[in-house]
Amino acid sequence: MDKGYESRKICKDCGGACCKNSGCSLAPEDMLREMAEWRNEENSGKIPDGGKDVRQPAEMAAADLEKWLQRSDCAIDSFTGAAGLCYYIRMRHKCFTFIGVDAMGECIALTDQGCSLPYERRPRGGRFLEGRADRHCEQHYTREQMEADWGPYQPLLKEIWNRWRDRLEQEGMFDRCEEAYIRYQMEKRQGGKR
Ligand code: SF4
Ligand code: SF4
Repeated sequence: MDKGYESRKICKDCGGACCKNSGCSLAPEDMLREMAEWRNEENSGKIPDGGKDVRQPAEMAAADLEKWLQRSDCAIDSFTGAAGLCYYIRMRHKCFTFIGVDAMGECIALTDQGCSLPYERRPRGGRFLEGRADRHCEQHYTREQMEADWGPYQPLLKEIWNRWRDRLEQEGMFDRCEEAYIRYQMEKRQGGKR
């Protein structure tokens, strides 16, 4: 794991403005690590290789990725890059689902004490965001790098997005998420909850 730019004191003083705005972006290596952890837990630690799976994107089944995503704290999102729409995975927002239609929202892992994930399990987009006291923080995991990293996974991510996005919208899932998030924000304002 590349260490990144831990800015502990600056970020503690800030209280996580970036994490209140949106969940940070995973790199594929983060996704593969989390999938391995999940696979290992699902099998009660009985997998001989500890759940590690080094399959290349072309060999990974969308169903496998989808199953992990649904149970994870992550969501598929997209941005427009140099080569067009780029799907990637980021941390999920509180109250929302694995289809990240919510552009803004508080990261599911943020607590009163800061990020609940140990540093080595934080996504690359979090580890590579260099905190600055003046809040002009610098993201070293660039869109260009993300586009290159996630390029091989586009067919898989697009397949899952297309399968679920309209379905969840028609079922009213996103409206319910939005309502739950508004309730959460109101309770937080009233009770100092976070
Ligand atoms: S990276 Fe910047 S915005 Fe995020 S917690 Fe640190 S100082 Fe605040
Ligand atoms: S995973 Fe941690 S560092 Fe990344 S956005 Fe969430 S709370 Fe912030």
